[in-house]
Amino acid sequence: MSSAPIFWSPRVTALEPYVPGEQPRIANLVKLNTNENPYPPSPQVFDAIEGAASSGLERYPDPESMALREAVAARHGLQSTQVFAGNGSDEVLAHAFFAFFQQAEPLLIPDITYSFYRVYAQLYAIACELQPVDEGLRIDVDALAARAAVGCAGIVIANPNAPTGIGMPLARIEQLLQACPQRVVLVDEAYVDFGGESALPLVDRYTNLLVVQTLSKSRSLAGLRVGFACGQAQLIDALQRVKNSFNSYPLDRLATAGAIAALEDDAWFVRTRDAVVDTREGLALQLEDLGFEVLPSQANFLFVRHPAHDAAALAAALRARAVLVRHFAQPRIAQYLRVSVGTREQCTALVDALASILG
Ligand code: PMP
Repeated sequence: MSSAPIFWSPRVTALEPYVPGEQPRIANLVKLNTNENPYPPSPQVFDAIEGAASSGLERYPDPESMALREAVAARHGLQSTQVFAGNGSDEVLAHAFFAFFQQAEPLLIPDITYSFYRVYAQLYAIACELQPVDEGLRIDVDALAARAAVGCAGIVIANPNAPTGIGMPLARIEQLLQACPQRVVLVDEAYVDFGGESALPLVDRYTNLLVVQTLSKSRSLAGLRVGFACGQAQLIDALQRVKNSFNSYPLDRLATAGAIAALEDDAWFVRTRDAVVDTREGLALQLEDLGFEVLPSQANFLFVRHPAHDAAALAAALRARAVLVRHFAQPRIAQYLRVSVGTREQCTALVDALASILG
């Protein structure tokens, strides 16, 4: 752009917004680019949404989202005062950045992680220090903890990490929590249900732990926009203050009803989650047979590279065959593709397309 539109403030002109994976309106697309769940949500979600739609829409929803917070709390053995709910975990993350990380020292995040973290930091003028992941794209916990101990605004990690899919054990999370007891350690568990180890059992023991989860992935509700954070009441109160300075009603009646129904249908959750995990393991083997290196994933996606084929070219060739995967034109990971785990049929279509591209 040559010059900024005249009404823009310098801060807006300087923003580099997050770019979500595309949601094209193309029929019969094999869409493996945004880590959505390939299965629909529990049938009980539809009943609950219909019920909520049939009465009460003329009234505002509960600004405290108490029923949803109680449902989350009951599921994880917490109090509702230890749960905050928001319009997707992206909104929860944004409020957490505003609430906890505007400090004199920099916020610590891995150099390879969910790229929205840096966008929130920029939005709220939070300085970030990037901690390099190792050659295997694993978070270097010892280095991160040592750096945190010297002074920081806090730590943000995704566990399992994105876009690598690599998880870390709870003992490592505790190492980080103990390294900076005066600052918040935010653990983004968007993908934890697909095989990661959740830090939720640590909430009662660590005043500085905030765990963020979403219903977008393992509960198949990306379209409904529901996320939550768990932590001790002092942290949750801070998030409520930020929310109530921004939007009293981030969760509408339909989303709330659907989310509670999804949380209550454990059998559906387990069945669809297990199907994704099984398919992931099969897909990993098939991709290795095609010559790809596949990082160990505890998420609903695989991060892969081919030693002999350029990742951007592969993504373009797949797109030409109506298969969408995600490529990040970023330092260190430009030769990787992130492939969301679809249904078995979608994964077969991906493998067939790759086989024909690779010749
Ligand atoms: N965290 C991570 C690591 C993610 O990949 C995503 C999905 N893009 C989110 C949070 C946000 O998910 P949602 O806003 O749908 O809850």
